[in-house]
Amino acid sequence: MENDKNTYQVVIVGGGPAGIATAITLHARGIRCCVVEAQETPVRKSGEAIPPNAKPLLKQLGILSLIEDEKHQIYYGNKSCWGSHQLDQKEFLADRLGHGFLLDRLHFETQLQALYQNTKSIFYNGFKLKKVVSDEIKTIVTIENSSKTKTLTCDFIIDATGRKASVCRHLNVQKENLDSQFALTFNLKLSEKIPNEIIVEATENGWWYVAPYCKNEVTMMFFTLKEILPTKEHINTFLQDEFYKTIHLSKIITQLKIDTVKMMPAGTSCLQIPYGENWLAVGDAAYSYDPISSYGITSALASGFYGGHAVADFLHGKPEALPTYRYVVENAFRAYMEKLVIHYQLEKRWEQSDYWTYRLSAFSPNITS
Ligand SMILES: Cc1cc2nc3c(=O)[nH]c(=O)nc-3n(C[C@H](O)[C@H](O)[C@H](O)COP(=O)(O)OP(=O)(O)OC[C@H]3O[C@@H](n4cnc5c(N)ncnc54)[C@H](O)[C@@H]3O)c2cc1C
Repeated sequence: MENDKNTYQVVIVGGGPAGIATAITLHARGIRCCVVEAQETPVRKSGEAIPPNAKPLLKQLGILSLIEDEKHQIYYGNKSCWGSHQLDQKEFLADRLGHGFLLDRLHFETQLQALYQNTKSIFYNGFKLKKVVSDEIKTIVTIENSSKTKTLTCDFIIDATGRKASVCRHLNVQKENLDSQFALTFNLKLSEKIPNEIIVEATENGWWYVAPYCKNEVTMMFFTLKEILPTKEHINTFLQDEFYKTIHLSKIITQLKIDTVKMMPAGTSCLQIPYGENWLAVGDAAYSYDPISSYGITSALASGFYGGHAVADFLHGKPEALPTYRYVVENAFRAYMEKLVIHYQLEKRWEQSDYWTYRLSAFSPNITS
């Protein structure tokens, strides 16, 4: 229930996986919170693979049953052409926890938001963050939609706004980009039937990621560096050239018709410290992962879970809970960086190419081409 003064212990900005995981955790801890989400209804986002080792976390969050819904698919790993000319099945390495999942992402976001709304907590959907002002006692959050402006008062604010880290920006906290990878993405209607799985294929100037979207339609993404991107009018030709360089994808998908191409940052970025006196960042707002890792969704849920508990502890008089959160998420980020470098090192077919040279030197100054 919305209270008269719109006063909450915690305001969470962003209703994606990280924001909802935080909200569910805080609600379970008896903390009065609300979620502010810019979209009126969920939109389809990029990212669909959940690895088997996420299952214990999903169980703890009480959302494993959502993922076992028939709209999501049991999944054993992507097909990948990386480091050799072969198209291999990258199984989740005979993981002792069995299979992972291939999400219907729109359905997953809808399920998560419905789960939160079942707690009868307040959900300001269709409201965008406009302003954040903090003093030593309270934080005042101004949000607006097309017709209304609302003022919320809270003790603590959570940034769950994804890559842009909008709350942090309002608080003048900068996120650091560790590389300049961009995704060029478009949807493609298929004339042929292709396997319902993710296919990854590296080329000279980056790599392709093709994921099921809906019946007879896939999302195509090409990842490259900002420095390599051609001017706008040459983007379609660039994509076509890169596509016809593929050994496997160009055989699997025989007709490439590129319509509207969207461009978005898709590299690694992080905050120096994921919390402050009265704020904390979760999910992509704190650490954004390279999509090759399939870390984003699981990490967003995990940081929401641990971040939610840290904030609940903090509000119950345990200030050490925030640096403890930092320790946990920073270590996870470090482990990701190590695996990322190893993964990019596997690809040695284009050692003269700017993409593969920059890729390694960006993460690891000690590795020379
Ligand atoms: C091209 C691409 C491919 C990917 N592939 C994968 C994959 O295969 N597997 C995987 O695990 N991950 C993948 N990811 C990453 C994954 O999608 C993200 O890591 C995940 O969505 C992060 O969740 P989040 O809740 O932190 O942020 P988001 O899902 O981005 O949610 C943030 C929410 O905040 C809202 N918001 C933003 N600004 C405001 C504002 N000012 N006011 C109010 N609300 C606001 C947004 O509307 C949004 O709903 C991919 C990402 C990209 C870009």
